[in-house]
Amino acid sequence: MNVTGDQALVKKLNKSIVLERIRLHAPLSRAQLSSQTGLNKATVSNLVAELITEGLVYETGLGESSGGRKPLMLLFNSRAGFVLGIEVSVQYIQGALTDLAGAIEAELVLPLGQHDPAFVMEQIRKLVQQLMQVTPPSPHGIVGIGLGVPGMVDESGTVLFAPNLGWEEVPLQQQLETELGLPVVVDNEANVGAQGELYYGMDGEHRQLVRDLVYISAGSGIGAGIIIDGKPYQGAWGYAGETGHMTIDWNGRSCTCGSRGCWELYASEKAYTAPALSLPAHSTAKLLPFARQGDADTLSVFRDIGRYLGVGITNIVNSLNPGMLIIGGPLAEARPWLEQSMREVIDERALPYHRRQLQIRFSTLGSRSTMLGAAYAATAPFLGRVRVSL
Ligand SMILES: [Zn+2]
Repeated sequence: MNVTGDQALVKKLNKSIVLERIRLHAPLSRAQLSSQTGLNKATVSNLVAELITEGLVYETGLGESSGGRKPLMLLFNSRAGFVLGIEVSVQYIQGALTDLAGAIEAELVLPLGQHDPAFVMEQIRKLVQQLMQVTPPSPHGIVGIGLGVPGMVDESGTVLFAPNLGWEEVPLQQQLETELGLPVVVDNEANVGAQGELYYGMDGEHRQLVRDLVYISAGSGIGAGIIIDGKPYQGAWGYAGETGHMTIDWNGRSCTCGSRGCWELYASEKAYTAPALSLPAHSTAKLLPFARQGDADTLSVFRDIGRYLGVGITNIVNSLNPGMLIIGGPLAEARPWLEQSMREVIDERALPYHRRQLQIRFSTLGSRSTMLGAAYAATAPFLGRVRVSL
């Protein structure tokens, strides 16, 4: 390895460490940064000066002094740039313009009547253009676009297989980067949803405690975003988390994936179209008013979905032993009617040691976890989170 390359990498790493520290723990003085990061004061001063020039950090007021001159405190300028976070789902695409700390500046939803890739691309382009028009002026402008899609995505951002969209091998990231001229990140919707919950759905203290988390996205299908030891778990080729297609009924109904008896046939919105049912509507949003009015069929279907969610969650908890499990996606809105039956099944069936300290929660971000997680995924590379691979 060449020495100059090493020095440049070390500097980049140090700079990202300093920025991350300020981002998560500001206000901080240069002296505090130095003692917290272990970097010497001259290095910290140089890196901070660069971050100030780049508009990412600014100085403010005076901090507490331990005698002598009071230090200037450093803050993160979350409005130094903006990102777009987009969720492509079966029925719609929704996008948010956020600052570099995930605060939403504008939101937009466009319906998706059809799913052929050219049409979806056209809708994404429209959404991006409209959100760009309302982006406030900032030193860096729009620094990236993140997308969460309901399917398997490889490392190059190609959607390999999205059965609910009918997509195979769609090079979404490459096409969008070419057309829009901005860095684009494409990942599975549950993977980015997990990041949304972790980085924008809980405070820093909680984040420190939760090293092992599973985010279940339950909507038109089911996907899981798995975080192990603080890092997204992708599997050997990036396809981990397709929990919606684990078999829970050996002889069950056939699924779009080619298998049968898949979990999502019973515990997602796909359950609404089961042959024996006659529901007043076939989307969660449309069923919620019926549940509120006490419609017996609607209440019974939510109760059953709760039970089936409990079955799949039990399998996940027994296999992975997560510290926290978060349920998100459109079905999380039906929490009042499915939570009890879901918890009963988990209490009855999950192994006692696995259950003991497990926290089960519903998403705090609601239908925004994927969008915000996609925004986070687009922000992270810009903020210089350097990945070192050996
Ligand atoms: Zn399946």
